Amino acid sequence: MGSHPSNQFFSGNIEVVCGPMFSGKTEELIRRVRRAQIARQKVQIFKPAIDDRYHESNVVSHSSLEVEATPVKSSIDILKKLYDTTRIVAIDEVQFFDENIVTVVRKLARRGIRVICAGLDQDYRGAAFGPMPELLCIADLVNKVSAICTVCGSPATKTFRKNTNDENQVLVGETDVYEARCRTHFDHYSEVEEDLLAYTVSIRNDDQGELKL
Ligand SMILES: [Zn+2]
Repeated sequence: MGSHPSNQFFSGNIEVVCGPMFSGKTEELIRRVRRAQIARQKVQIFKPAIDDRYHESNVVSHSSLEVEATPVKSSIDILKKLYDTTRIVAIDEVQFFDENIVTVVRKLARRGIRVICAGLDQDYRGAAFGPMPELLCIADLVNKVSAICTVCGSPATKTFRKNTNDENQVLVGETDVYEARCRTHFDHYSEVEEDLLAYTVSIRNDDQGELKL
């Protein structure tokens, strides 16, 4: 005997769609939301109040698909604004939320809600973005999507910031500020990476080309 269908319906789930800018994360989020709406499941969509690029209350992707979303200032506000009948919660630009978002997402899933998160996995330096590592870790389903490198046309997994005079991790902008790049054309080494590289070279020199760790 299989499990009762209603149990499956109310089984919570955590999904994360991540990748660089221009990789279609929000389009994928909207696609999943639309399918749920066709199935007549009650969906609520949230986004951080910081992202005001296009419209106050809509999630708008680069290809101008849009759905209604509620801007929230903190992750706890998602719980405060949740309706009892909501079966699916979609969260766009999830990387901008505070660390409590991990607890909030867990709580929602425990209530039997399907949670769909979309966000940047890395910032413009290639470092992990905010709560993304933990969200990716606790997720039941992860989709890492790629864009196209503006230099060579290969799949791009990195977000390159053209003007790096501003050291803020968050600089809201579009193609004027950011480009998708492959690993080769991203070329943004951190000091830690340079140290590691120097260390590796010294090991190789000590060992006549043999790398032993
Ligand atoms: Zn490239």
